[in-house]
Amino acid sequence: MALLCPIWQRMTDKLHIVGGGMAGSEAAWQAAEMGVDVVIHEMRPNVGTFAHQTGNLAEMVCSNSFRSDDDEQNAVGLLHWEMRTANGLIMSTADRHRLPAGGALAVDRDPFAESVTARLNAHPRISVTSEEVTSLPEDDHWIFATGPLTSPDLGQAIQAATGADALAFFDAIAPIVYADSIDMDKAWMQSRYDKGETEEERTAYLNCPMDRDQYEAFIDALLAADKTEFHEGETAGYFDGCLPIEVMAERGRETLRHGPMKPVGLTNPHQPDVKSHAVVQLRRDNALGTLFNIVGFQTKMKYGAQTDVFRMIPALENASFARLGGIHRNTFINSPTLLDEQMRLKSQPNIRFAGQITGVEGYVESAAMGLLAGRLAAAEIQCRTLPDVPQDSAMGALIHHITGGAEARTFQPMNVNFGLFRPVDGLKGGRRGRKDRYKAYTDRAKAVWSDWVKQC
Ligand SMILES: Cc1cc2nc3c(=O)[nH]c(=O)nc-3n(C[C@H](O)[C@H](O)[C@H](O)COP(=O)(O)OP(=O)(O)OC[C@H]3O[C@@H](n4cnc5c(N)ncnc54)[C@H](O)[C@@H]3O)c2cc1C
Repeated sequence: MALLCPIWQRMTDKLHIVGGGMAGSEAAWQAAEMGVDVVIHEMRPNVGTFAHQTGNLAEMVCSNSFRSDDDEQNAVGLLHWEMRTANGLIMSTADRHRLPAGGALAVDRDPFAESVTARLNAHPRISVTSEEVTSLPEDDHWIFATGPLTSPDLGQAIQAATGADALAFFDAIAPIVYADSIDMDKAWMQSRYDKGETEEERTAYLNCPMDRDQYEAFIDALLAADKTEFHEGETAGYFDGCLPIEVMAERGRETLRHGPMKPVGLTNPHQPDVKSHAVVQLRRDNALGTLFNIVGFQTKMKYGAQTDVFRMIPALENASFARLGGIHRNTFINSPTLLDEQMRLKSQPNIRFAGQITGVEGYVESAAMGLLAGRLAAAEIQCRTLPDVPQDSAMGALIHHITGGAEARTFQPMNVNFGLFRPVDGLKGGRRGRKDRYKAYTDRAKAVWSDWVKQC
């Protein structure tokens, strides 16, 4: 649909993309394929990061896996499917350089990045410049896709434009649990001292009680668990604000009982006469109420150790985790407060953000947000309005989460997962109905996404 463009939209027909990683590369491809001229500003190889090794675009900084390729039972596999359906550069190149990896999509990383670089350089509408961008320009259309290792000068400029509280330099992620995997015969909903004006506020927390023996066994397991080391180049300065629970436990066996596990102001309705020795609290992590994060449980435990240790918590014995905890260097903005549903900065709409800096996590999710940002920006330059990204697609569930569905106050980067999807009516909850439920989500997503792509 053609629209009258506001003056600032007519200043140029070029799209500038800062950062040629997963998101920037995909955004450039999508916009160029829609007929828009694109300039990619990538600082490497002139300016490096501690993790990247080459000057290639779309370099994979760590593992060579795009995770599960199962598009019927896995949310990231569904995202693969949606990106393939939308002519995604990252997926088509990954498919060409696929390595055997069972149900996962693993790629030969160097040929993959070289091939993405070659395809972008060869595109008649794309040019690539090797320069660091350190400000948010007021003119022209820009997508900032500078990732978790955004250069410090640009980080400062983003902070100046958005406010100190709206930009984080580290992830301190507490594990996130699927609500339907929590045993509510043991847990209960209550805010400490029943604080709150409304019933919803007074029952905002989900509580898991521990007796003395359970607490002592939990502390032993925490202390013994395998931990990951920090990457070179990361600093530990953020420790002041968010100590990992195992570090708290090392400071003293009672520290957690006086911190995130304190049992005061709570009464267990299942056993009202028994005083809990410690209580683990979980808080709603999305508006749908399908995900809960374990409050204050950021951790550097290895993933295998985390599931073992967290399943010792009463009511979480059968917990399924939408994501596990972690702490690492990661620059990201508070998208739920800063971005509109088109991924534009509300205060400066000629600027879009894409990729991991928007608060998604992972190669696939970052490329996915690049795909959307590229298409949305290109349409705007062409004075067209695309239909809303369907919320029931994996793309839509993610963009909806980061631009409004997530709790802004506790916003932390998120992988795609079925907890972000609206329920399908009439299906069984819990573990037993999971296979049918996931199939219903993926069928519904494929239908709405195919429609959207056809209309764009
Ligand atoms: C150490 C580390 C390990 C990781 N391991 C994994 C993993 O195993 N699996 C996984 O799925 N994800 C992993 N991630 C997350 C991963 O970085 C993202 O999933 C993905 O690469 C993000 O894509 P992106 O396009 O947002 O950012 P990136 O791919 O990082 O791309 C951003 C680009 O912007 C450039 N840039 C930065 N600042 C500027 C500037 N001012 N001007 C111009 N260019 C700039 C950078 O050089 C970079 O090329 C890891 C991240 C880190 C830091």
